[in-house]
Amino acid sequence: MDNNQIWQAVLGEMELNLSKANFITWLKQTFISSFEDDQVVIGVPNIFTKTWIERKYHKEIYTSLKNITNIKIKQVLYKTEIQKNTQTNEFFNTNKPINQTSTDGNNYHNNKPVTTNRFGLNSRYLFDTFIVGKGNELACAACQAVVANPGVTYNPLLIHGGVGLGKTHLLQAVGNLAIKTTDRVLYATSETFSYDYINTVRGGHAKDFKDRYRNVDLLLIDDVQFMGGKDGTQEAFFHTFNDLHNMNKQIVITSDRHIKSIPALEKRLASRLGSGMIVNITLPDIETRIAILEKKCKEKNYSLTFEILNYIASHVQDSIRDLEGALNRVIAVHEFNNSMPTKESVEDVLNDLLTTLRTKAITAKNILEATARFYDISIKDLIGKRRQKELVFPRQIAIFLMREDSNLSYPAIGQEIGGRDHTTAIHSYNKIAKQLKINKKTKQEIESIKQLIYSI
Ligand code: ADP
Ligand code: MG
Repeated sequence: MDNNQIWQAVLGEMELNLSKANFITWLKQTFISSFEDDQVVIGVPNIFTKTWIERKYHKEIYTSLKNITNIKIKQVLYKTEIQKNTQTNEFFNTNKPINQTSTDGNNYHNNKPVTTNRFGLNSRYLFDTFIVGKGNELACAACQAVVANPGVTYNPLLIHGGVGLGKTHLLQAVGNLAIKTTDRVLYATSETFSYDYINTVRGGHAKDFKDRYRNVDLLLIDDVQFMGGKDGTQEAFFHTFNDLHNMNKQIVITSDRHIKSIPALEKRLASRLGSGMIVNITLPDIETRIAILEKKCKEKNYSLTFEILNYIASHVQDSIRDLEGALNRVIAVHEFNNSMPTKESVEDVLNDLLTTLRTKAITAKNILEATARFYDISIKDLIGKRRQKELVFPRQIAIFLMREDSNLSYPAIGQEIGGRDHTTAIHSYNKIAKQLKINKKTKQEIESIKQLIYSI
């Protein structure tokens, strides 16, 4: 493995955990500028990107580099530098800006054959590449029924399921199959929907927005939970939904939690969303996980013994995204060392990864629990309305931790902390961030709470 290959492997891991937009914005034009002994210098295109990567992604890059190369890297530095031979960064082999649609309707974000096409679909997500097993068979069958009989059998179809269990894959599989017979298909995350709504409607182009979302036979909306708290977006979606539904157009929606548990989702919208067919995706069993690993190996032209597949599948249970991440790591490390994977070597690789996965699973709930326990107050008081100093400070700490350690946006944090406004969340975060620099005690308290989070 040369520097370029190492960096491709690191990017491969980062890609699984970042949104496409973030991934492209921040990691495009990055490369390993030098790798000497235990010091790696990453070239980044400008100072702005440098600051951002240092703040947001350094930890992941560092861990990933260390694990892939199995070298005890002491330092990872970032330096503004433009890669001389731009052809080498395979992930982003393009000069086109994001979202620029080429004549064949495909956006080439990288050199994988096709990424997102004009329908918003990624050709990787097909029924053919989806392993059916306990946990997802009902959802998969419902999705297939929808393509066979759009607007008739299950409308709307709502897919529930935890993070990384295949909701997006299925939703996109529906779209990818449907576009074989119609081009009136649109996939959008609820964030894209919201973004389009704000931009086109507030910019005075309401008609464009309507044209885009109403002129379809099949509308696929991913991660509807992110509409929580966005009143304008919900209103727009409510009307879009009703118009399409009245015309018997098919709507498929995903959510990572039950509709009723989405904070600040309007009742009338919730009731519309839940009015059709609801299917759950639950954790896959061990056989399904092994089958998924086998399939992914085949796609990558890599072979692992059953014993090793079984080992990986029994240790990564909570998310198929993580399962795929683990497999990618195993492959990258062995390709780097040019060695055959053995049970022992795979165990080594996974040990590091499993620690990372455990630390990744920090949720708002863990943070609230740990913070309340540490300051000896109830969660109810922690997120409640009372404004005593003894409550306000822990509240700010919890907000700070949510921002630092879980991937929540400020509006989402506001919701978690008793339905507060995002400005409160921003203010609290800044306040604690400032204190941290001058007050040792605050720093220690935060460390202790983190310890608690891991031990709960
Ligand atoms: P979600 O949207 O539920 O968070 P994704 O659909 O993004 O999860 O799935 C995460 C990763 O796992 C994707 O790369 C997807 O292709 C893969 N995946 C999930 N379920 C399956 C499955 N049953 N068979 C094959 N791959 C799967
Ligand atoms: Mg998804």
